Amino acid sequence: MRVLLGLGSNLGDRRRLLAEAVDSLSGVVAVSPLYETAPVGGPSGQGAFLNLVVEIDSDLSARELLGVCQRLEAAAERVRTERWGPRTLDVDILWIDGVTVDEPDLEVPHPRMWSRRFVMAPLVDVAPDVAPAGWERQVEGDVRQVGRLDDEDS
Ligand code: ADP
Ligand code: MG
Repeated sequence: MRVLLGLGSNLGDRRRLLAEAVDSLSGVVAVSPLYETAPVGGPSGQGAFLNLVVEIDSDLSARELLGVCQRLEAAAERVRTERWGPRTLDVDILWIDGVTVDEPDLEVPHPRMWSRRFVMAPLVDVAPDVAPAGWERQVEGDVRQVGRLDDEDS
């Protein structure tokens, strides 16, 4: 099944943390360019996020995928101090082909993805068919494309 994951980091060596997470995923089909994003909400003074979207081909259930996301976050030694606070790595399930989940600890598609430019901009790069027509009018925030994970010199 086609799965879209959203990854973000705003603490530590962001590019390396994202690269290690992507490298450890099975069934990677496509990796979006990187987008840098000013943090929205949360404590003031936290650093900019680096975000990307990965498409994978997976037979795992939504709940198994959530476990994969949480293991990646744990591997990055994510420290949960404050909600919406800085994090070494955030991995969210954005979308799973034909699957809807609406549970307290797991919602797929991710309920806030459609309004976030830092999700939709990289998503459109790898999966334009998933974005609704006129998605650009529904998103908030600014992003800046800053190359790719596999660029040598950035
Ligand atoms: P956020 O990603 O909103 O900044 P967290 O990463 O701390 O916040 O996630 C909080 C919780 O969100 C997770 O423990 C997880 O159970 C829940 N959650 C609900 N839907 C999803 C999803 N689609 N992908 C990842 N986590 C999700
Ligand atoms: Mg998350």
